[in-house]
Amino acid sequence: MLIEIERGRRHTLQQIRDLAARYGNRIEITEGTGVFDTIHVIGDTRGFGEREDYVRSLPGVRAFFRAASGYANIARTIRGKSGQAQRRERRIVEVPGLDGKVRRIGAGKHIFLVGPDSPQTLEQTLAIAKMARAIGERLGVLDRMILRGGAFKPRTRPNDWRGLGMKGIAMLDAAREESGIPYATEIMDLNRVDEIGAHADMLQIGTRNAQNFDLLEAVGRFGKPVILKRGFGNEIEEWFYSAEYVANQGNLNIVLCERGMKTLFTKGGYCRNQPDLNAITHARKQTILPIIFDPSHVAGDYRIVAENLMASVAHFVDGTITETLHEEAFRAEQLCDAAQALTMESYEAIVQAVLNYEEKVQPLMRRAIGDPDA
Ligand code: PEP
Ligand code: MN
Repeated sequence: MLIEIERGRRHTLQQIRDLAARYGNRIEITEGTGVFDTIHVIGDTRGFGEREDYVRSLPGVRAFFRAASGYANIARTIRGKSGQAQRRERRIVEVPGLDGKVRRIGAGKHIFLVGPDSPQTLEQTLAIAKMARAIGERLGVLDRMILRGGAFKPRTRPNDWRGLGMKGIAMLDAAREESGIPYATEIMDLNRVDEIGAHADMLQIGTRNAQNFDLLEAVGRFGKPVILKRGFGNEIEEWFYSAEYVANQGNLNIVLCERGMKTLFTKGGYCRNQPDLNAITHARKQTILPIIFDPSHVAGDYRIVAENLMASVAHFVDGTITETLHEEAFRAEQLCDAAQALTMESYEAIVQAVLNYEEKVQPLMRRAIGDPDA
């Protein structure tokens, strides 16, 4: 829900703030370019919405908009009472690092999430973090790097290795300490959000939990940035509704992640999950949230990760999340997703390709198609 208000109307602003608090909502203010600012009312806004006429009557209030869709908090387009449409700005999700640099997802520059499928040994985890730091420094993109690694692994087969749990989290903590780079890790249990969330910089909801609504609400309440993978059988709207579950709890720091789907056509082993690249464009037009792509779980094979990653870059994705090895020899040791891991050397070449693309090709793409965010 959005309210446009004349700048400097402090009393009205306080009245709106109080009303929002009464209904358990939070507000954020975006400064406009002219004399109006925008108040964003976040959370379950049904009660607040019933007071629309009152809000409109307050001095300085120019307009009141709500989303027509069932995902009011994240919708890109919202409508006023007389039906006029208003486009909202896309959102930037910020993830600060111990190195003092803030990673800004959705700010127009590709964000590189990289790391092992899961921390398995301290040596492996630290080595990847150091290499990520070295790549970031060499290529001038340290402020665009985030580490990844799942300590709690959802596995299809119950007897497969399921990650090191809190020991794995301790390794990721050490990797952050060593490199200064923040990390994202998967969370599966709604009763452990506080425990794991106290360590991690970003919480990942995996494809299997994309519709675990209690878990979505729990990470929403917790408030740290969330990576929300698309359920492998979910329609795109279902994915947006999942994001709205998080947003309804007052947390708009959500990054959508397309990671491919199971389809009739993924049999035969040539790809693990079928990527839906058009979902990137659609999500950008329908929601305010940044969107990243996971080429590793799409590919299932390290030999076709780079092409998938670059394809998502052509779709103006805000970042990618990629699984890597610290050395080729470790592939034989890796207990989950060994076949799809890239070496960090290959990964560096891909980062370079993305940077070249951003510099050389993207301006031409913008000329061809116009502003992809319009
Ligand atoms: C992962 O990122 O390692 C993972 C399990 O991803 P997904 O939930 O997309 O399968
Ligand atoms: Mn994995």
